[in-house]
Amino acid sequence: MTAKSGRQFLQIPGPSNVPDQVLRAINQPTIDHRGPEFQGLTNRILVGLKKVFNCAGPVIIFPSSGTGSWEAALVNTLSPGDSILMVETGQFAVLWRDIALKFGLNVDFIPGDWRHGVDSEPIEAKLVADKSHSIKAVAVVHNETSTGVTSDIAAVRKAMDRTNHPALLLVDVISSLGSVDYRQDEWGVDVTIGGSQKGLMLPPGLGFNALSDKAIKASSKAGLPRSYWDWDAILKANQMGFFPYTPATNLLFGLEEALNMLFEEGLENVFVRHARFAEATRRAVHAWGLENLCLNPHEYSNSLTAVLLPEGHDADTLRELILEHFDMPLGAGLGKVKGRIFRIGHLGWLNELMLAGTLCGVEMGLGLAGVPFSPGGVQPALSYLVHGE
Ligand SMILES: *Cc1c(COP(=O)(O)O)cnc(C)c1O
Repeated sequence: MTAKSGRQFLQIPGPSNVPDQVLRAINQPTIDHRGPEFQGLTNRILVGLKKVFNCAGPVIIFPSSGTGSWEAALVNTLSPGDSILMVETGQFAVLWRDIALKFGLNVDFIPGDWRHGVDSEPIEAKLVADKSHSIKAVAVVHNETSTGVTSDIAAVRKAMDRTNHPALLLVDVISSLGSVDYRQDEWGVDVTIGGSQKGLMLPPGLGFNALSDKAIKASSKAGLPRSYWDWDAILKANQMGFFPYTPATNLLFGLEEALNMLFEEGLENVFVRHARFAEATRRAVHAWGLENLCLNPHEYSNSLTAVLLPEGHDADTLRELILEHFDMPLGAGLGKVKGRIFRIGHLGWLNELMLAGTLCGVEMGLGLAGVPFSPGGVQPALSYLVHGE
């Protein structure tokens, strides 16, 4: 181990860098989670979260990873043997499907090439064909973190509406919430699944479910067994400002601070900042002569970019070199793109110079790894940051 000086650039697409203010907020004495001070905290956070999800209904907070909030969305709305329509956008869609299979759900997994977002046409066709309404839910990932592709959720909803099919719409926003515009109510989403450690700028450890009325109604009939994840007990306790079991108190201190930061900057401005940094990154990738894994420009992710290496070059070797020489972890290729891509996280607490440093680290690493590329890709990214062109 060599001694490191300066800060590590944590440029994986989550966990993202945690702001100093948030770390300081977490670093407070833990309080009684059944006392009056805690009650105030719960009430403020639950109101703030609705603004981030753009929803009028309740938002549930679990002390969990994002994976827990996936499971919660399924077990609270579905019954054993129910059919669910899911879409293979990438590795996170695969993992979510695996949970559904373990619960005995009948999964129809629409195949994908990991380079495009959700196509609403086959969803519409399958719902039209499902005359008996055996499909109880459509579940999609908004921002597929394994590929850097963002799907059009409003289009999925419109396709579902055209069929008049009653299926619920479940959407994973774990790596888009707080980075990319998201509208639970306007887009007619029934359960939105979130996590703390990406755009919300917190350490890992909180999972979210934002609920529509229809989802709450479905939960009263859903037959899958659940206890820890049961919405009902949490909704009841939340009304009094409490939780049915010990919440992650100090992470909630951090959440309040992170929400304040987002509102102070203004969510609109936060989204514009992410769009700028993503575009600057794409310009660097293009100028290096490398390929974005995402093929459709309308679906480019603003929270991360997945970069494809030329055939015969191992992306994991590149990442290891960059970590060793420049102390910057980048995201690995997951599942079937392992070794073929690396992922640059440009989400959360990030400014121009952090992004410039990130891109410089990648450019230096490409040189070290002997990957064929055109040097100087950082320059068009910097010009774009300065001139917006
Ligand atoms: C990170 C992520 C998850 C998994 O979250 P964990 O906290 O690792 O369980 C699920 N879906 C998406 C889209 C993600 O980015």
